[in-house]
Amino acid sequence: MATNRTFTMLKPDSVEKGYIGAILEKINAAGFRIAAIKMTQMTVADAEKFYEVHSARPFFGELVEFMTRGPIVAAILEKENAVEDFRVLIGATNPVDAAEGTIRKLYASSMGENAVHGSDSDDNAAIEGAFHFSGREIF
Ligand code: ATP
Ligand code: MG
Repeated sequence: MATNRTFTMLKPDSVEKGYIGAILEKINAAGFRIAAIKMTQMTVADAEKFYEVHSARPFFGELVEFMTRGPIVAAILEKENAVEDFRVLIGATNPVDAAEGTIRKLYASSMGENAVHGSDSDDNAAIEGAFHFSGREIF
């Protein structure tokens, strides 16, 4: 995957609350092109693998339970400086600390239920995109 791509998930809380359209609108307005998108639900095994880096953290069980409780919207987004710019657009992990106008400030309810995921590096964007999409689902 090219380095001008990032990967996102609209987490189960966003889907449950009917925020898919509003969040995609923010993503479009910020200049990201959608290269791949789908609604899917992660199994417990999927979520444990996806968030493997956090497996020793005290919140891991809660994170896996949350991420598997309902469908998500997974997407690959393209833009110059995609990883960094998307992290700015979503805001801090804890919505209390997120800047005004960011997706998490607008739509997240807590540190755990924080509306969206954004890759933290080009390498992880490629790994995470490939986790959810096959080559023929990426345009
Ligand atoms: P994400 O990887 O989902 O984009 P992030 O990079 O901002 O979020 P990470 O440190 O990677 O934050 O944590 C992954 C996810 O684990 C967070 O988005 C949040 O849902 C959850 N999480 C992180 N820290 C805590 C915590 N202290 N308590 C509860 N949940 C947490
Ligand atoms: Mg992260």
